[in-house]
Parts: sequence; structure tokens; C-alpha cells
Amino acid sequence: MDPLTKPTVRPTGAGEMFQLLRDGRPRTRSELAQVTGQARSTIAARIDHLLALGLVGPAGEATSTGGRPPATFAFQPSARIVLAIDLGATHARLAVTDLGSTVLAEHQEPITIAHGPGPVLERAAAVGRKLVDQAGRSMSDLVSVGIGLPGPVDHATGRPTNPPIMPGWDDTDVPGIVRGLLGVPVLVDNDVNIMALGEHRAEFPEVDHLLFVKVATGIGAGVISDGTMRRGAQGAAGDLGHIAVPGGRDLLCRCGNTGCLEALASGRAIATALAEQGVEATSTSDVVALVRAGDLRASQAVREAGRDIGGVLAAAVSLLNPSVIVIGGNLAEAGEHLLAGIREVVYRRSLPLATQHLRIVASRTRGRAGVLGASAMAVEHVLSAEAIEGWVQ
Ligand SMILES: [Zn+2]
Repeated sequence: MDPLTKPTVRPTGAGEMFQLLRDGRPRTRSELAQVTGQARSTIAARIDHLLALGLVGPAGEATSTGGRPPATFAFQPSARIVLAIDLGATHARLAVTDLGSTVLAEHQEPITIAHGPGPVLERAAAVGRKLVDQAGRSMSDLVSVGIGLPGPVDHATGRPTNPPIMPGWDDTDVPGIVRGLLGVPVLVDNDVNIMALGEHRAEFPEVDHLLFVKVATGIGAGVISDGTMRRGAQGAAGDLGHIAVPGGRDLLCRCGNTGCLEALASGRAIATALAEQGVEATSTSDVVALVRAGDLRASQAVREAGRDIGGVLAAAVSLLNPSVIVIGGNLAEAGEHLLAGIREVVYRRSLPLATQHLRIVASRTRGRAGVLGASAMAVEHVLSAEAIEGWVQ
């Protein structure tokens, strides 16, 4: 059943009522009647719709206040599955999850995003099919696909817009291509936004103001404010990498400006600086390996990069007043040196009120932030009240 193409005829109200059940807590018909102010017969009909779809199932009996105990109903996340695809410049991670974003099967492999959308997306779809099989499910259970791309994406159309490290992808109809391959609706966003979403849903669901900072070959941030992802007018919100570091060195950046955060503090920038000192390093993973091996110059360089990032983040803290800043991306694997540098400057440069309850922590999703976010984005789409109405018709 395809929620997007099925015409919405007459709303049954089942989609809206389902939103109440999404927290997973079992409820009785009369509880639902009470909350919605609807007649019991209306509620019963809506429950029947949702039971028929498998989205809701019986969840045992409530405690009785005398007489036959009433039946309860709860959301069944295992009813359908989504495919989550997190594409990086050189690495892909895919997962099949249920509607609660529980990972059922996953896979990662090296890719070359520069090979272009055709081969990369065809390969992702083929791996996706295999994962559905591995999860013990059939393709008819698949209801949506979420994809993260390593570049700017127009959120409304899901098309990459002038992505600097994705030659051949500009303005490609990624949702259309993948829908053609897998037959379900496809949602696309940039990788940092989906990482922010994944980290938020999995580890910080109670936090309304969260910044996720990805520090790798590039540097970017996903901004969640008042519980909502902020993309900005053109989807460019959170592009921290090209903010000038206060008092930073005048190094040339790939964007054409000088003194950008990315030119000073990205994994690649640190590797270049170390190479100039005669230390063998060309990539973020080289830097991480050096720090882990106890190389002092590498640890100092990472800490200094942390200070540069902190300088830019201090401004973001003053603007957005987040309560959690999560540091992710490959360079975060270098551990405490990066976090220590960031904390040092953010706490020094921000006003006490903004940092009173501010936590600056390392990502807790162990590399899974991207697929968890892609899954959450796909699930959000198919479980909206409007989409559920489409299923019911
Ligand atoms: Zn720049």
C-alpha cells in the first residue's frame, strides 16, 4: 500500500487517533474516547481500521474496576519496515528498521560517491533488498526509504543543490530514482541533519534544544530548536564549516574564503598541519589513529582544533541557547582531546546563563546516528495522520 499515491477520499479520523497511540502506551477504547471527546462507537471503528492495518494490536487487559476488564490497544512498531541509507563521500551505511527505528539488519561498505547517482543508488537499492530479506521480511512490508547525502539537499524536492563533493549529483531527482527502484516514497536530507535527528530520537528525546556537530573531513551542524529541525530558508542552516574562526589563522578554504573553521579544524586540516611538521597523516582516520597511539603532536593539534570549533560554537550557543551539544563525526573518535578543547572555549566565551545547564558530549549512537535519523525521517513520513488516512482508504 502506497500512502502517497492512494487518493485521500473521506478522512476516517483513524490517522489522527493513531498519533495518540504512537508513544506505545496501551490504552482502552474509553480512555481514547475520553481524550478525543469522540463517541465510543467512533473510536471502535477507528481501532478496527488500525487493527486491520496491523499498526495497532491488542495489548492485554486494563485493570478492572469491577466487571469484565476492558481490552487495551497499542502501536505495533513491527507492523512495517523502512530502509535507512546513510551515504558519505567514501562510505555507506544501510539498515532496515521497524517503525520504532529498531535496527533489524544492517550493512556498511566503502563507496565512491563521485561515481554518480546511477551506480551508487542502484547498489544501495540492491543492498536494501538483501537487508529486507536478512531481516526475515518481504518487500511488501517496506513502506518508505530515508536517505542522507553528504551535501546540501533541497528539502522540499530531495534534490542535491551544488554539492561540492558529489560530482554528477547536482539537481538529481534522488527520490524519483530510488522510488523507481524500490516502489515506495523516499525522503532525502543532508547527512548532518539526519545525524542530528538520529541522535536526538535515540539518545535525547526529552531535549528540545540540541546541536549536533559533525567533525570529519568537513564540519557541519544539525540544529534542533523547540523540538524541531531547523533547516533555514535554503536548507543551509547549520553550515558551521565556513564561519570564520575568531582570531583564526588566514588559511585558504576550499570555498574560496580564508580562515573558515573547516580550513583550520577539520580532520583534513589537522592532517595537513601534522604533515607539515613531518608527521605522516593525510586523513581524519590517520589523525584518530595517531591520537589513539599516544602521539603528542596529534593530541595537541586535535585539542587546538577543538578550541577553534569552540570559538564558533560559542557564537551558536549565544544565538540558540541549546541545552545539549553532541559532537559526532570521525574526528570525535579521537576522544577527550577534541571535547576538552571545545568545552574550554565555549564555557569561557559564553554567558553563564546560556551555559548553566549546557552539556557538551560525544555522540552516543556509535556511528549509527545517520541510519537512525534516516529511519526516523522515513517513519515520520509514513505515520503522519494524513499518510495513515491514505492507508485506511
Ligand atoms: Zn570555507
